[in-house]
Amino acid sequence: MQPNYLRLCQSGELDGRIAQFYTILECCTLCPRECHKNRLKGERGYCRSGDELVVSAIHPHFGEEEPLVGRGRPWGVGGSGSIFLTGCNLGCIYCQNYDISHLGRGYPVTTRELSRGMIELQNMGCHNINLVTPTHFVPQLVEGIRIAVEGGLRIPIVYNCGGYESVSIIRLLEGIVDIYMPDIKYSDPQNAGRYSNAADYFIRCQEAVREMHRQVGDLQLDSRGIAQRGLLIRHLILPNDLAGSREILRFIAEEISKDSYVNIMFQYRPIFKAGEYEELNRRPTLDEYRRAVAMAHDLGLHRGFGK
Ligand code: SF4
Repeated sequence: MQPNYLRLCQSGELDGRIAQFYTILECCTLCPRECHKNRLKGERGYCRSGDELVVSAIHPHFGEEEPLVGRGRPWGVGGSGSIFLTGCNLGCIYCQNYDISHLGRGYPVTTRELSRGMIELQNMGCHNINLVTPTHFVPQLVEGIRIAVEGGLRIPIVYNCGGYESVSIIRLLEGIVDIYMPDIKYSDPQNAGRYSNAADYFIRCQEAVREMHRQVGDLQLDSRGIAQRGLLIRHLILPNDLAGSREILRFIAEEISKDSYVNIMFQYRPIFKAGEYEELNRRPTLDEYRRAVAMAHDLGLHRGFGK
């Protein structure tokens, strides 16, 4: 299957989209925070990012979902070609990568350097380019993709985001992204506000996920079991059901698709500022995790999580 972005690149439409994205950066509304800062002139909004692209790491990653990683190992071929962006448009007080998202660990790269990184990942046998926390750097990332296409980029693009997205930006990404991989973190506005400073999280996330699914559909794998196109949803189980898992799983099953690939994640640990919130200050129990998986089964979901 040919990646989406090749057709847009050949028709010249990708250049038009890049121009549109950079115009948005002049009065930034790349995400629902709508800070209206002129990031091209050095102003910074909630995410603290300017016009310069900042990454924390570029390397093959073997800890992602099997359809992204394949069965290869570091000494063989495979893995997900991950590009970790510095900063974030959310404010999760339990962020597992808080040194990158909150503390700004990373280094600046030009879009040309980024494109070289993409080609190197492809040459290492990675199955995709996995843009981790891309939301606040969409213009620069799409420009990097366009340059990399000239250098021979041909593997799928993964948009691996926290789920707090503007639907208008997701619409502009149509034909550029092959695989959308959003988190759906909360259904409860109070908890989304308290733990991620985004009380409208679920509303924005639902709008975005509907649009993502409209564009790419359910996750499609090739004969090797490697993802080529589609939607892959992540849902992290929080202790004391602070995520509101039932409503999230209901939304996926009833409003997206029962064939959605859903990774129900059990790896939450109370780090960064989570210790300041008693209800968040423990790992979820196995029983809590199993209850969420049982709910997913009851709702008719069947891909991406344990039996
Ligand atoms: S990307 Fe950053 S500056 Fe732009 S609206 Fe979102 S938080 Fe604000």
